[in-house]
Amino acid sequence: MTGLTRRALVGGAGLAAGLAVGIDAGLSSAVAGAVDSVRDAPTGRDRLWLTRPDGSELRSRFRTGAGHDRTQILLLSWFMRDIRDEGRAVWMEPSLFDLLAGVQASMSAVHGSPLPVMVTSGYRTPEHNAALENAARNSMHLYGYAADIQVRGYPPRAVALAASFFSGGGIGLYDSFTHLDVWQRRTWIGRPAAG
Ligand SMILES: [Zn+2]
Repeated sequence: MTGLTRRALVGGAGLAAGLAVGIDAGLSSAVAGAVDSVRDAPTGRDRLWLTRPDGSELRSRFRTGAGHDRTQILLLSWFMRDIRDEGRAVWMEPSLFDLLAGVQASMSAVHGSPLPVMVTSGYRTPEHNAALENAARNSMHLYGYAADIQVRGYPPRAVALAASFFSGGGIGLYDSFTHLDVWQRRTWIGRPAAG
């Protein structure tokens, strides 16, 4: 786990640097362009349509032919910030967004129209995680490797099933949400609370 810890810390520094670069490079115009590109087709393997419980929303096309768009990964990482601990953020593992996009695209295809994915928990600070009664002490949320999600109109087991086609990491099934991470492959039925 030492490697993950180091990576998370490096990622945090990278996020700060990325924010500075992004602002210098005209972050707002990049955001506007991204919004245009996903307005009509907000779901697909290269894009995400995410919401948070506070009502915020982000549509992002985060993949291009060349790979991950670092500006979009930066925006997505910020969107996944710990909204219960001063909005602190780290650089999220980009493959987590690939996983979420796969789940969203497949569920939207079955549904027949784009379905937003609500992120109830993305990055979680050590202080926040420690305060959660049932959270794993070494939760993948601490490293920017995990998301707890809900898809309105579908039970968590439907989300877990969709994820099983794309995920090489963890899938945790809880009463009201599904935990997905991009660490080791494993599945579990969660206790009611934290994930
Ligand atoms: Zn979780």
